[in-house]
Amino acid sequence: MPEFPSSRTRLYVDQPLAVGEVIALTEAQFHQLKTVQRLATGAILGLFDGVNGGFLAELRLEKKSAVAVVTSQSQILEPLGELTLLFAPIKSARFDFLVEKATELGVTRLRPVLTDRTQGDRVNVRRLRETVREAAEQCGRVELPRVDEPEKLVRILEGWNQADALYLCAEAGAALPLHRASKPGRGAVLIGPEGGFSPVEFARLRSLPFVVPVSLGPRILRAETAAIAALACWQAIEGDWQSRPDTQGEA
Ligand code: SAH
Repeated sequence: MPEFPSSRTRLYVDQPLAVGEVIALTEAQFHQLKTVQRLATGAILGLFDGVNGGFLAELRLEKKSAVAVVTSQSQILEPLGELTLLFAPIKSARFDFLVEKATELGVTRLRPVLTDRTQGDRVNVRRLRETVREAAEQCGRVELPRVDEPEKLVRILEGWNQADALYLCAEAGAALPLHRASKPGRGAVLIGPEGGFSPVEFARLRSLPFVVPVSLGPRILRAETAAIAALACWQAIEGDWQSRPDTQGEA
């Protein structure tokens, strides 16, 4: 059985990790470890920096600060298939939920898309990146998905690499079930806003050769449900649910 990441505390650190390094933890990390998790000096942490893989480190608590002494490398950084989720911003509580689940499902890039019916055009990208970091720590990833600034759908389509399929999750109109439409390689899934795509957007999307309309079943899903369903289908068919490298050690 593949080794799943243990339940130990895992932290993302924004500096390069290597065995022997002494990592100064942030105030927020100090508070989380000492006050919230009530850990003591000697506790083993899982650290990752998003570049060098996963490491084990020993916690050293001082009165008002903490360091982690890196003792061994526990996980190498696997080359990840690219899985991009393009999604229209939705109401914030559901939005955080969508971003957290997408991170757990292995998305490698999150692209907020401004569409005709998107509610509001402000996206708190800093908050998104916090949500992504916390979800990556929780689920044992050793790299962080990239989070882009919001961009208009038209601009994204203009700059699209035509070699990459864009799976348009379409709740209406003839669309292939995702499992019959997917092509190997990089995946990109587009989910519309609560109000769906406008007729003009929909017609433009369907006219593009790299757009593959896909269905997620006969029911109208909420955007966050559609995102989770589409990413799960992709991972099961083309992604990393096929086989877990047995090097998935403890991070
Ligand atoms: N237009 C819908 C609401 C949109 S749901 C309505 O009439 O109420 C938000 C987004 O989720 C849609 O734009 C689509 O991208 C996706 N979605 C929802 N249900 C889907 C389905 N059954 N198949 C594919 N995509 C779906």
